[in-house]
Amino acid sequence: MLKEAAGETRCAAIPETVKKFIALGAEVAIERGAGANASVTDADFEAAGAKLGTRDDVLKDAGIILAVSGPDPQSLNGAAKGALLVAALDPTRRGDAVKAYAAAGLEALAMEWMPRITRAQSMDVLSSQSNLAGYKAVIDAAGTYGRAFPMMMTAAGTISPAKVFVMGVGVAGLQAIATARRLGAQVSATDVRSATKEQIQSLGAKPIFVENVAGIEGEGAGGYATEMSPEYQEAQAELISGHIAKQDMVITTALIPGKPAPRLISDAQIVSMRPGSVIVDMAADAGGNVEGTIAGEKVVKHGVTIIGATNLAKSLPADASALFARNLYNFLSVFWDKDQGRPVLPDDDEIVKGIRLTQGGKVVHERLTAA
Ligand code: NAD
Repeated sequence: MLKEAAGETRCAAIPETVKKFIALGAEVAIERGAGANASVTDADFEAAGAKLGTRDDVLKDAGIILAVSGPDPQSLNGAAKGALLVAALDPTRRGDAVKAYAAAGLEALAMEWMPRITRAQSMDVLSSQSNLAGYKAVIDAAGTYGRAFPMMMTAAGTISPAKVFVMGVGVAGLQAIATARRLGAQVSATDVRSATKEQIQSLGAKPIFVENVAGIEGEGAGGYATEMSPEYQEAQAELISGHIAKQDMVITTALIPGKPAPRLISDAQIVSMRPGSVIVDMAADAGGNVEGTIAGEKVVKHGVTIIGATNLAKSLPADASALFARNLYNFLSVFWDKDQGRPVLPDDDEIVKGIRLTQGGKVVHERLTAA
């Protein structure tokens, strides 16, 4: 396993997964200091049975290279041809790096392209990290909000509960609802996929949905959202405007695969919120759901703080690493061939087809070769 580049706090293995890989028959080598940001010491890894060394030491003879973020291809000089590189490789934005992995003879596997199928749920890094991110978004909102979350009846008077509205109820949104509820807020939520209505209710929150408008069903391939009709967007904006004006905190998570994030909150709607309110825009990296969001920054507009959240899971490095590391183990162990002492990845397997980017010196993934 590699030590990540600066800025990445997570690590791709934890002592538990090291032990499990060894139980499969693998030898595990870890670059010194790789777990430091995630509160895992070299001694913890050694106690689990890993060998510690320099980047050169761990790359030499490695059949599988584990990382969280896609490593700089130049930092992989010395890796064996045919080695698997397993990480969140961000292939859409890092096309040149993917080509360089191919040129180096590496077989690059992009974990974030794991198909959303039942068999792959335990390998899904997007879900494991989004879940933590949804939690952290609410904690960050709570830290910025100058008032309390729960209703409190005190000798000095009553504090009313905070009102939290979650827009986009995928993995992150569901966890945001659950977290805000646990903190004692009054929670409501909306999505374009009507299947989420029941999920919102089951978490004790109020669904806010557009009814009786053409093009209302926003569920497309793989359970992801589709772009909505203009009629729907208009009706949604009207409904949401009235609702947002009464909210203390809004968490937005809406994404549409392959497209910029849909714009859900306009400047006029921000003006309607009371000063001191907080918006956490979890789609900041994809262009933002909120007018005026700046990715990675906290800005105050009309007295409302807008947090342009980017990769919140990184700010929970210990838990995020543990879940990421288990996702990697769950994937590799399913394909492990005990006799060969390594994973064997069949060309016709849906999971392999979903995530394999390069093979035999070439870029092979159809999403990359078609472009
Ligand atoms: P996502 O991060 O792609 O999007 C977040 C949410 O935003 C989604 O619920 C989406 O419907 C919603 N959204 C999009 N446009 C919107 C708009 N204009 N207004 C309001 N909401 C909007 O979502 P995700 O967390 O990746 O989940 C996507 C789907 O994949 C879900 O159906 C989820 O249950 C499914 N999933 C399946 C698996 C599996 O089976 N392995 C794993 C994870 C997720």
